[in-house]
Amino acid sequence: MSQREPIIAIDGPAGSGKSTASRLVAEKLDYLYLDTGAMYRALTWKAIRENSDLTNEKNLVELAKKTTIKLTKDRKVFVDGTDVTVPIRDPELTKRVYYIARVPGVRECMVALQREIGKAGGVVVEGRDITTVVFPDAKTKIYLDASVAERVGRRHKELKDRGYSAEVDEVEKELHSRDEEDRGRKIAPLRIAKNAVVIDTTHMDIDRVVETILDHVKHPKARNE
Ligand code: C5P
Repeated sequence: MSQREPIIAIDGPAGSGKSTASRLVAEKLDYLYLDTGAMYRALTWKAIRENSDLTNEKNLVELAKKTTIKLTKDRKVFVDGTDVTVPIRDPELTKRVYYIARVPGVRECMVALQREIGKAGGVVVEGRDITTVVFPDAKTKIYLDASVAERVGRRHKELKDRGYSAEVDEVEKELHSRDEEDRGRKIAPLRIAKNAVVIDTTHMDIDRVVETILDHVKHPKARNE
């Protein structure tokens, strides 16, 4: 029987460089890349589309149970067969993901799906609770961070590159409230997991971030005990 491939779990706040780094690490290792934020975004898209009451937790759990979310290798996201790759990045939707991500029953559905996708290993999984809840026993656990100013700058550029107009101070507000929501929620808050390697990417370009992660994959060392 062939040995199970490792899981690389990466958490961190918005703008920490998580998505790009995770995708590139997955490419280098020929692993699957799993963007769990896209799954919460996808369900938010459907809830908005169906005019669901975003404060009705029971209905949101029902919605999660009856929704099929698919992520493809070429990084497309489908909700019940509809391609939502572009609309799930809309800043107006981003503000509402919080309502979905704070519901325990919704998270249970998402975590089950993430574990199912990752169970064979050979996967780089990124999000907010991957090192703490979804795959706490992952071989490599990374927490990416960066200064607020750097994260705001990256997020601003990302939005502009996607064609959205955004003022820097608006972006900073969005980032602050998402940080508070993700760190402050009762279930699966963003935390640095025990044994995670913390990488501050403030002064690193993306190639260095990727190299540093790959180095930890090959030679595990210095961890947050
Ligand atoms: O990573 P991304 O910015 O696309 O995630 C969007 C939102 O989804 C986050 O702000 C967070 O509220 C939620 N999320 C989560 N748990 C994850 C991934 C994302 O709660 N594992």
